[in-house]
Amino acid sequence: MSELCLVPIGSLPPRALEWIENAAAEWFPLPTRRLPAIAIPDRAYDAKRGQYQSVEFMKTLAQCAPRDAFRVLGITNVDLSIPMLSFLFGQAQFEGPIAVVSLCRLHQEFYGLPAQEALLRERTVKEVLHELGHTFGLVHCADSTCAMSLATHIELVDSKTEKYCARCGTQLAQRFARNGGV
Ligand SMILES: [Zn+2]
Ligand SMILES: [Zn+2]
Repeated sequence: MSELCLVPIGSLPPRALEWIENAAAEWFPLPTRRLPAIAIPDRAYDAKRGQYQSVEFMKTLAQCAPRDAFRVLGITNVDLSIPMLSFLFGQAQFEGPIAVVSLCRLHQEFYGLPAQEALLRERTVKEVLHELGHTFGLVHCADSTCAMSLATHIELVDSKTEKYCARCGTQLAQRFARNGGV
């Protein structure tokens, strides 16, 4: 079955999966399936940085993925990083099945501001489209309003829209057409 499997890693904001399902339904001709939440992998914690190694999350997702899963998206509320970067909004295998998105730095509270659920939803959708775009072969886009533009801080996430630009959208549609609808 060609499904997009959603895997919560640890606890999430109450409506996060619903936001992601709605966005996925708009862009991808794939049914989504919620898998049971899994625990945050202990070995991923980097006490020196107070963050979690994204690579361990990717490995854990690969292990827990159903064999027939087409794409597996992990979603977590903890802060992710890799050794060479101070943090990550998400990570994906290019044209591969696994991706992860962290909502940690998408919360206004992370920046000492009052919570804004609508803004959290928008940012979540943008980052999910970004990482899933990579799994479908999209690269970074020069259009700063496109979901595939590279965001290295939250202001750049906010400059994006909740959609792919025409060029990236066409490439995505071609990708699905090549795969016989999926
Ligand atoms: Zn990217
Ligand atoms: Zn684009």
